[in-house]
Amino acid sequence: MENALYMNDSYLKEFEAVVESVKEDKYIVLDRTCFYPVGGGQPHDTGVIICNDEEYPVVYVGKFSGQVSHEVSKPGLKVGDNVIGKINWNRRYKFMRMHTAAHLLISIFNRESNVLITGNQIDEDKTRIDFNMENFDRDKIMKYIQDANDIIKQDIHVKTYYLPREDAMKIPGVVKLAAALPPNVDTLRIVEIPGIDVQADGGTHVKRLAEIGTIEFVKAENKGKDNRRVYYTVR
Ligand SMILES: [Zn+2]
Repeated sequence: MENALYMNDSYLKEFEAVVESVKEDKYIVLDRTCFYPVGGGQPHDTGVIICNDEEYPVVYVGKFSGQVSHEVSKPGLKVGDNVIGKINWNRRYKFMRMHTAAHLLISIFNRESNVLITGNQIDEDKTRIDFNMENFDRDKIMKYIQDANDIIKQDIHVKTYYLPREDAMKIPGVVKLAAALPPNVDTLRIVEIPGIDVQADGGTHVKRLAEIGTIEFVKAENKGKDNRRVYYTVR
C-alpha cells in the first residue's frame, strides 16, 4: 500500500512517478499514485498525467488485481516514462468533506436509531445514505443533521492509522455498512473521529471536522418498505 499515496496523505495533490505498464494505449499503471480509485462509495479522482510538458487527461481511475489503473484520454505514454501526476483538487477535496460528513452522520444514525446502513454514494453536488428505518421520520433526520453540525463545531481532529485485522474487527461498529466487509488483508486502515466514530475505511478524509463546513439536508426518499434514502450536501 506504500505506493497508494492517497492512503497516508489525502492532501497530496501532485507527485512524481514512473510508468510501469500501458495497456491499449490508455490504461496506465504507475509505480506510485495519489489518484484515488473508485471504491467504498467514493468516486475516482480526475486530473492529468504530465510527460515532457504534454498533458494526458485522467478520465477514470479503478483498482484491478490490487493495482491502480489510470485511464487517459490521449495515447502516447510509454513504459519507463518519468511523469508528474496532478489531481483535480476541487473535486477531491469536496469528496473528502462529503466522506467525513458521511461517517459522522452514519455514526449518529447508528447510535440514535440503531439503523443499519445499506448503502452510501458520495458525489460532488450531493451524497446519499441508504438505511433501514421502519417509520420514516423527517424530524428525526433533521435533528441528526443538526447534531452532526454541532459536533463539527468542536473541530475534532480525524485520525487515520493501521491495525492488524484481528484487533480491528474487535472494535464495536468498525464495519457499519450492512453488506460491506473490509478487504481480506492482514492490516486494516482505520479512520477515527475520536469520541464519535471508528471505521475500517480506505477513503480520503479531511484532517479536522471544521473543514466539512455545514451539512445541509437536500431530500429524503422512500425506497421500499424499510428502506430510506437521505441526500445531503456540504457548504
Ligand atoms: Zn468511509
